[in-house]
Amino acid sequence: MCMRNNWSAKVFIPWVMGGGLFLLSLIALRMGCKNMQGGGMNAPERDMAASNASLENIFNIESIFDKPNVYPLVIVGSGPAGLTAAIYGAREKLQPLIFRGGEPGGLLMKTTDVTNWPGEKVIIGRDLIERLNEQVEAVGVEWRDDSVVSIDVSEWPYAIQTDSDEEGQRVVYALTIVIATGASSLKLGVPGEDKYWGSGVTTCAICDASLKSNLSKTAVVVGGGDSAIEEAMQSAAHQKQVTVLVRKDRLRAAASMQQQAKKISNIDFKFNVEVKEVLGGMVQRDIDGTSIPSLQMTGVRLYNNKTGEESIFPAQMLFLAIGHIPNTEFVKDILELDSAGYIKLQPGSQETSVKGIFAAGEVSDHRYRQAITSAGYGAAAGLDAVAFLQKVGFNSDVSQKLERLKKESR
Ligand code: NDP
Repeated sequence: MCMRNNWSAKVFIPWVMGGGLFLLSLIALRMGCKNMQGGGMNAPERDMAASNASLENIFNIESIFDKPNVYPLVIVGSGPAGLTAAIYGAREKLQPLIFRGGEPGGLLMKTTDVTNWPGEKVIIGRDLIERLNEQVEAVGVEWRDDSVVSIDVSEWPYAIQTDSDEEGQRVVYALTIVIATGASSLKLGVPGEDKYWGSGVTTCAICDASLKSNLSKTAVVVGGGDSAIEEAMQSAAHQKQVTVLVRKDRLRAAASMQQQAKKISNIDFKFNVEVKEVLGGMVQRDIDGTSIPSLQMTGVRLYNNKTGEESIFPAQMLFLAIGHIPNTEFVKDILELDSAGYIKLQPGSQETSVKGIFAAGEVSDHRYRQAITSAGYGAAAGLDAVAFLQKVGFNSDVSQKLERLKKESR
């Protein structure tokens, strides 16, 4: 146990927000009186004192010793945001634990040349993640390849439920959490898309375009942003012809990326077209010398939104690059989200609507969405977690006791 009582989330969250405000008002009033009597605190000092007092009242540091598997900082997600938060946590000796999830490294693992990471003229996305992993490992961060299923915020330390195969590892307790689960590629939602998923339809040219069985195929890319251009360029190195299907009369991608793509002879563009259906059927596929019937997409049905005409466009591969959806399903009942499902942050911080839980990267940012901004937000979230821990009374004595108890229980 760790909150004063074993409250339910329904009571706890509003209490933290509403009750916290009430406490703050009381403390602010007290401070105000002190000042009138010549207490001499300036406004920032008063805010800090008020904030410290309220957090210590709400979060009972002594209670953390009652639980097994307690970590001062748990990070969910292993892209640039999560890894950077871990580096900042490790600097403060918080021995962070990262849950890397089903797709360790996040979207950068699917990116080829990254040309906007400061200090590197050009670096492959996968290599960048590899270097960050090495750095994280060197500073003693622990990681697990499990996914987080849910977080129980009715008590503090917060209970994190994972999909671990090991029963004893399924629940860990966290004093602070950084959510850095990023965003996943959106789908079109048209007939045939699911049927031919993996049989031509994919979101990752870098993963699929260069497969030997795909080299002689023609491809379409749907989208008009940077991702679409990237997918087209990656695919053009392997496919005979690549056509980018754009629903507007112009691209949204950065001018420099457009220029690069337009120089590649086997990339062309079709504007004002929308994919209405993915077409295909059974084909005989040669697998290790044996002819096996398998599903294969053969084209797309297009609608021209300027002329109203429909047409069939033959293609054996379709790369989707139409944007992303934040991976917030597992926190949707505990954190405040915006209308698009991104985690809402308190102004000027990485703090979410629940104290001690922070967010960083594309899971809470649909404006910048760059590897470097995600890393920056990760650093900020790590620092915010450190500040929170200091405010609730976490110090080196507490840390050592926690470690000792953890070792004894193993
Ligand atoms: P964007 O949101 O920028 O672009 C999505 C594109 O898909 C738009 O052209 C949009 O059209 C189109 N689209 C959306 N829904 C549909 C639909 N149902 N049918 C057809 N087209 C559709 O997403 P990106 O993934 O391209 O980029 C996300 C962020 O990541 C950006 O900030 C980008 O700069 C960044 N990025 C950077 C890279 C780099 O620097 N190397 C590489 C890749 C991404 P419309 O324009 O009509 O809305």
